[in-house]
Amino acid sequence: MSQVIAIANQKGGVAKTTTTVNLAAALARQSEKVLCIDLDPQANLTMSLGCQTPDELPYTIADVIDKAIAEETIDPSEGVIHHREGIDLMPSSIQLSGYETVLINEYGRENMLRQYVDAARPYYDHILIDCQPSLNILTINALVAADSVLIPTQPQFFSAKGLELLFQTYSKVRRKMNPDLKVEGVLITMMDKRPNFARDVVELIRSTYGGSVKVFDAEIPMSVRAIECGAEGKSIFAHDPKGKVAEAYANLAMEVMDNAERQQRRTHQHQAVR
Ligand code: ADP
Ligand code: MG
Repeated sequence: MSQVIAIANQKGGVAKTTTTVNLAAALARQSEKVLCIDLDPQANLTMSLGCQTPDELPYTIADVIDKAIAEETIDPSEGVIHHREGIDLMPSSIQLSGYETVLINEYGRENMLRQYVDAARPYYDHILIDCQPSLNILTINALVAADSVLIPTQPQFFSAKGLELLFQTYSKVRRKMNPDLKVEGVLITMMDKRPNFARDVVELIRSTYGGSVKVFDAEIPMSVRAIECGAEGKSIFAHDPKGKVAEAYANLAMEVMDNAERQQRRTHQHQAVR
């Protein structure tokens, strides 16, 4: 059973893309099969996984969405790029930037990505969708296609407050389009040397959004190492394997795998009761 996680936050610069790359790499190192989908026209994920010229790619996620709109059969392996760290990537390019308008008049516009994701599910243990910093129709497509949403945030008061809008969108998607969608967890990223202040923010998140929202035990420290690896087209495990950031992402991967296992057991029990 595959686990599909949308990595979302409408705020930019909270480490969505960095988390997608490093969580994917950490999972791949545990011999899990991982597909990353770049759903941001800025194509930062595509570039972070070593493809420096996304606009020259012959086939990207925009072509996948074209096929879904045209109701054509989607081959989940078409256009997938294999990264040397064992990660598969469905890349993006600037072509995707027009798709908000393309989708707006399409019947079933929220379901286009789901068609691709469902076709890819049998081949992967984990599918990670890197969203753009917006709650537009593309991000809604990710939330509809996903089993859960992972929310990176910086340990700052206004970043924590900004999660409100995201949770409203999450609730709306659950009510109207994807009743099984869950919150995978809130991930504190770029944790600096003020642990007490960050603790307060974690408490704020917990108290504002209720005990039901998981905040990951793993917290990603601020480190220049994390910035360097994006430009080098590799994960933190290839760039600085013994550092704090690699350790934190490895711990995050363990929590994510535990979640998947627990969810799987619950589904089996549920089926048995039926
Ligand atoms: P988003 O996808 O949410 O816009 P990015 O992953 O692109 O965010 O990260 C934004 C910036 O922060 C990038 O320059 C990235 O290299 C940097 N960054 C990400 N994680 C860390 C970290 N742990 N420490 C320091 N800088 C980081
Ligand atoms: Mg990004």
